[in-house]
Amino acid sequence: MSFIQLDRLAKQFGSTKVVNDFSLSIPKGAFVSLLGPSGCGKTTVLRMLAGLETPTAGSIIIDGKDVTNLKANQRQIGMVFQAYALFPNLTVAQNVAFGLRVVNKPRAEIDKRVAEMLELIGLPDLGTRYPFQLSGGQQQRVALARAIAPRPRVLLLDEPLSALDAKIRVSLRSEIRAIQRELGITTVFVTHDQEEALSISDQVVVMYKGIAEQAGTPFEIYNAPKTKFVATFVGTLNVLNGKVSNAARGEVEVDGTALTLSTPIAAAGGSSVSLAIRPESIRLNGAEACDTHVAAEIGEVSFLGSVIRIRAKMLGADVEFDMFNQPDLPPPLPGSKVTVGLNRRDFLLLDT
Ligand code: ATP
Repeated sequence: MSFIQLDRLAKQFGSTKVVNDFSLSIPKGAFVSLLGPSGCGKTTVLRMLAGLETPTAGSIIIDGKDVTNLKANQRQIGMVFQAYALFPNLTVAQNVAFGLRVVNKPRAEIDKRVAEMLELIGLPDLGTRYPFQLSGGQQQRVALARAIAPRPRVLLLDEPLSALDAKIRVSLRSEIRAIQRELGITTVFVTHDQEEALSISDQVVVMYKGIAEQAGTPFEIYNAPKTKFVATFVGTLNVLNGKVSNAARGEVEVDGTALTLSTPIAAAGGSSVSLAIRPESIRLNGAEACDTHVAAEIGEVSFLGSVIRIRAKMLGADVEFDMFNQPDLPPPLPGSKVTVGLNRRDFLLLDT
């Protein structure tokens, strides 16, 4: 049963359609990310959900009730923005209390809730500080506490981590996810960072030019992308160009080598197609039993610590793959000729 239902939502600014035919069903308590490049309409979807933007067409149902025409303050939604949007002249405790004061909650109840919220975000002793006395990460925690203090039905997060440095971003995203799980609050998170979306979401919706290209679990989105855009936007992908040699048998000739896919190909024999393969599916030296072995010439080798990233030429293309660092197994040398193993189940046929 869905808790939030967006049905054929559209938004047009002047003559420009920025969101088109956008439908999405979100179960209660789920953490859903809207992922896509800058300008694809993520924030506009979030703002329509919040009641800050009126849809040109379509409807928004929350908990069985049509809220499409309700004002923002009637929707019981909490929101955290990208920029630190705390009130600079209020203390941390006063910021967190803000939404409770607006609805005239009794003083004792407000104090209790603020203390609970500060405990939840791990800042129990900072209630009397002002925002300028906090780090960026602390300010975003306070913004989160302020958003959830009034017990909203839905939490909307618009790139809340993008202004923070990489390390804090990674730790704060886990904290946000842990708090969201603890409260069981249905959450929609906007990001253009694919690793962020994949790592914390129950469901990811990949958006491109105002439409939802694909929605699914992070595992589905990464391993079974339905469109070329999703395949190339999410994760690193090596693309091999070839021609269909036998459609029924799923055979493609790439740079003189016959590769077989695990499924038949819809395109006619002789058509040009692009095959994609993820870096982790290219196995150096083909040590394991693989369906095909091909020759590769090693290019740049970058030692990144736990992982070694290798660029190589194979099947007429420049590809990239990784190997785990093993102290007793030195990485290949640039310029050396190696054999790599590929498996048919790992090829993705990209629609062009
Ligand atoms: P980003 O990651 O850069 O924030 P986004 O995917 O969230 O991008 P939106 O902010 O939803 O994208 O914007 C989608 C498109 O709509 C953009 O081209 C933007 O310029 C346009 N747009 C957004 N708000 C308005 C507005 N009020 N008036 C006119 N155009 C707008």
